Amino acid sequence: MSTFVDKTDIFVKAGNGGNGSVSFRREKYVAKGGPDGGDGGHGGSVVFVVDRGENTLVKFRYKRKFIAENGEDGKGKKCHGKNGEDLIITVPPGTLVRDKESGKVIFDMSKADRFVAAKGGRGGWGNVHFATPTRQIPRFANPGTTGEAKDLTLEIKMLADVGLIGFPSVGKSTLISRASSARPKIAGYHFTTLSPVLGVVNLGEERQFVMADLPGLIEGASEGAGLGHQFLRHIDRCRLFIHVIDAAGSEGRDPIEDLKAINAELEKYDPELLLRPQIIAANKEDLGISRERKEQLEAYCREKNYDLFYLSAQSNIGVQEVMERCAALLNTLPPLKEYECEYFPPEKEKEDYSGKRVRIYQENGVWFVEGEWLLQFIRKIDFADRESLRFFQKVMKDSGVEEAMQNAGVKDGDTVDIYGLEFDYVY
Ligand code: GDP
Ligand code: MG
Repeated sequence: MSTFVDKTDIFVKAGNGGNGSVSFRREKYVAKGGPDGGDGGHGGSVVFVVDRGENTLVKFRYKRKFIAENGEDGKGKKCHGKNGEDLIITVPPGTLVRDKESGKVIFDMSKADRFVAAKGGRGGWGNVHFATPTRQIPRFANPGTTGEAKDLTLEIKMLADVGLIGFPSVGKSTLISRASSARPKIAGYHFTTLSPVLGVVNLGEERQFVMADLPGLIEGASEGAGLGHQFLRHIDRCRLFIHVIDAAGSEGRDPIEDLKAINAELEKYDPELLLRPQIIAANKEDLGISRERKEQLEAYCREKNYDLFYLSAQSNIGVQEVMERCAALLNTLPPLKEYECEYFPPEKEKEDYSGKRVRIYQENGVWFVEGEWLLQFIRKIDFADRESLRFFQKVMKDSGVEEAMQNAGVKDGDTVDIYGLEFDYVY
């Protein structure tokens, strides 16, 4: 079995924000001191970070759940709860982050080395924030908000300019080991390459590109036969292909049939792949290629508009020419494909506060407004945030609380207390 894993589902959950604390100063001879409840700590986020040394997702095989630390609750004496630590998950370059359910792309890690996959919850404000020195005894604090939770699919889309394609044993691994610093296994039997190998081809004068040795594509790969199918995904970003054939037919194969078979697989997977340039690397020239075969090959490549090079990867003859041609072609081609975000989370449904009941009464010249729902609601308001405040005002109006207050006799300029939050009522 291949230990190469290039697609995996994971669950990420950011830490919740800690709750703000409701607490009051305790002082000698003072019945109830001022509020001193500290803020909750922020929840840790789940963050993906690119690690250039990784090229598989195999580590996710046994660990699929990633949960970042919660923020601690705030405490009395204005103690701020501890923030939760971010949870860093390293991923290979070129990893795509998708929404699991829809399959839509959320982020392409080729665009940045760091991506916050699930944002930690915000720590709630302690009641110390809701106090004015004179007349507040807030009996509520903000709860922390919940950290984001997501089911994701990670998928590697390698960052290779050039993809080596071809049947097993035609010499792809040999070619990349001659042309770059990559040293894949080379062997005389099929399926030696179980995971893609990346190599940097350096031609000097700042001409360099990344080449990928993809494991043998075999016939039927696009339908999932053999090992090839899972690797077809990788070639999505390649800007051009070097299609390697055993031109000597050393294993009794017909190189033109091989070309057609592989290209048929590419087409079945994604017809767009055939529009990308192909350079035909007619390998194993050292074993002798008959004149008749050469003529057939040349005619076929002319017809298909493929560049054709004869080479012997093993003896390092003709390799440089192929690489030079790649570099020249790449100059004329668009840059590596980046995937755009196509996933937009559905809007959260807002709770309907209309027609909720409240109790309004006057005591010592202050109007008190109470209701269990109102307490829950006001706890969620972020008083540091204008938007949140405006929402608070809107709900007061839409829910009928304002009208109920007016009916109860609350007048312009009267003092109103909602769970310790005091303000002058303005019509
Ligand atoms: P891959 O499966 O396409 O990666 O093929 P490999 O690079 O592993 O090579 C398969 C076999 O072909 C190995 O035994 C290589 O030594 C041999 N080979 C590769 N290139 C050449 C070549 O140019 N000439 C000859 N004679 N043999 C080669
Ligand atoms: Mg190989």
